[in-house]
Amino acid sequence: MAISGLDIYKLLPKTNCKECGFPTCLAFAMKLAAKQADLSACPYVSEESKSKLSAASAPPIRLVTIAADGHKIEAGNETVLFRHEKTFYHPTGLLVRIQDSLPAEQVAATAKAVADYKVDYVGISLHLDGLAVEATSGDASKFAAAVAAARQAGSLPLVLISEDPLVMAAGLAKTTGATPLICAATAANWEAMAKLAKEHKAPLVVRADTISGLAELTEKLVAAGVEDLVLDPVARGFNGSLAVLTQVRRLALKKGVRAVGYPTVAFPYLGQSDPCMETILAAQQIAKYAGFVVLSRFGPAEIYPLLVLRQNIFTDPQKPIQVEPGIYPINKPGVDSPVLITTNFSITYFAVANEVESSGQPAWLLVADAEGMSVLTAWAAGKFDADRIAKTVKNTGIADKVSHRKVLIPGHVAVLMGELEEELPGWEIKVGPREAVDLPRYLKTNW
Ligand code: SF4
Repeated sequence: MAISGLDIYKLLPKTNCKECGFPTCLAFAMKLAAKQADLSACPYVSEESKSKLSAASAPPIRLVTIAADGHKIEAGNETVLFRHEKTFYHPTGLLVRIQDSLPAEQVAATAKAVADYKVDYVGISLHLDGLAVEATSGDASKFAAAVAAARQAGSLPLVLISEDPLVMAAGLAKTTGATPLICAATAANWEAMAKLAKEHKAPLVVRADTISGLAELTEKLVAAGVEDLVLDPVARGFNGSLAVLTQVRRLALKKGVRAVGYPTVAFPYLGQSDPCMETILAAQQIAKYAGFVVLSRFGPAEIYPLLVLRQNIFTDPQKPIQVEPGIYPINKPGVDSPVLITTNFSITYFAVANEVESSGQPAWLLVADAEGMSVLTAWAAGKFDADRIAKTVKNTGIADKVSHRKVLIPGHVAVLMGELEEELPGWEIKVGPREAVDLPRYLKTNW
C-alpha cells in the first residue's frame, strides 16, 4: 500500500531547513508521497527512517533496461499519469517484429534497415530502438538462426518472442553480449521462463489477460528471484488497450500496487489487419502508456509520424525543444546580406531557417534566447521584448559581420519597432512578414 504524506512526515527531521528544495518538511513529505520527489534530496533522513521509507521512495514503476552493443531501451520509472503534471522520462521503445519463418537474408535485410533508419526532426535525430524476433515457425533451430541473423545485422536491443521455453532457450543462446527481453512468461510456463531469465540476467515479459492474473504471476516471479518484469496485459484493439494500460498505470501510480508496478509492452498489429489502424493504435499506445511497442513491419511512412509523436510526448513540457541562441549563417551570407531575428524554439527556428535556405537567398539568422518559446508566446511572456532583441543583436557581434545596420523582426512583434529603435540607435528596424512561409518573397522584394 502507498504510504501517506503524513506518515512520511513523521519520519522526516522536521527542521524545515529547505535544503531539499521545498519550504517545509511537510511539503517535501507530500511530494514524496505523490512520487514527485526523491528521498535522497533530504540529506538528514536517518538510516532507520530511510529503510522505513524505502517503499515510499522506490519508483512506483520499476525501471527495466534491455541493451545490445551500446544501444539500450529503458522503460518505466515514470511518476505521473499526465505529462503536464511533470514530465514523462523514458520514451516508449519502438521495435520492429521479424518472423523467424522468413529467409535468413530477409531477416538480415530488415534488421539492417531498422538499424540504419534515421530521420532529422527539428535538429533531433529520430530512430527506431530495436527488433523483436518472433518464433512463428515453432522450430528452435530456425528461431536461433533468426536471432543470430538479427543480432549480427542490427546491433540493436532484442525482444525474443516465444512461449515455448525450449525455443526461447535456443534463441537466448544467440544473444551473447546483449540483454534481450524474454517474451513471455504465462501461467503455464512461468517457472521455466524464470529459470531462463535468471540464467541470462534478462528481463521477462509477464503475459495474462486480466490484471489480477498479471499480479499473481509477478508475485510468483519476484518470489522466484526475477525482478525485472514487463507486463503484457494481452490488450487488443483501441478500447481494450486504452482501458487496461491506463488501469495498470493508475494502479501503480495512484494506488501503489507493487504487483503491477512495471512497464508494459503492446503489440498493435494483433487484431488489426489494416496497417493504418495498426499505426493509429501504436500512436495511442505510445501516448497511453506502453513502455515498449512492437510494430509488425518496417515501413518509414508509418514509422516517421510515430517517432515525431513520441518525441513530442516525451519532451519535458517545461523545457521546450530549443536551439542554441546565436548567429546562424544561411546560404553563405556576406557583409551585405540581410539580418533576421527569431526565437530559439526549435520549430520556429527551423521554420524560418528552412524558408530562407530554400529561397537560395544568403542571410544571417540571429536566434534570441526566448526560453524555447515561439515568437508570439515569448512576446506575450516578456521573453522576446525589445531589450532581449537588442541584447541579441549586440552580444552576437553581428555588427562585425555586416556593413549595413538593418535588422528584420517578425511581423508578429511589429509593435516593438519604436522601443527597438531606442534600444538600438543607428540600426534600422524592419518589420518582416508574420509567417515564415512569406519570407522568401519579402527578402526578394522588400530588403
Ligand atoms: S531537507 Fe530534510 S529536514 Fe530539510 S526541509 Fe527538507 S525534508 Fe526537512
